[in-house]
Amino acid sequence: MPRQPEGPIKAPGDKTVRCLLGPVACVFDATPTGVWRIERPEAGPRCNYCGICAMYCPPGVINTDKEERLFSIDWDYCKGCGICANVCPHDNLTMVPERGTAVG
Ligand code: SF4
Ligand code: SF4
Repeated sequence: MPRQPEGPIKAPGDKTVRCLLGPVACVFDATPTGVWRIERPEAGPRCNYCGICAMYCPPGVINTDKEERLFSIDWDYCKGCGICANVCPHDNLTMVPERGTAVG
């Protein structure tokens, strides 16, 4: 089996991201998860675009910009882990069931 790359890797959209290994030794940042994610963070009205959630998001899929008042998530790669919702100091993110997920 080939070794996983150890340095920064290119993600979709030509983003350079850290190379983290996931539970089954795949590159954590490189697996589209929109299909199997069971929860997603839903943003409320209290965001001040501080970017703390983006710093803690393991696959680095949150994009914030204070000047532009921008907050966005790349849903193709969000894992639904809930870390962003836990670290937000303004309780702006709530984990909600993924719409359209066939469970049970
Ligand atoms: S941590 Fe909370 S307030 Fe800060 S950018 Fe993220 S959602 Fe917005
Ligand atoms: S749920 Fe996890 S992967 Fe998705 S945006 Fe939040 S921290 Fe990132």
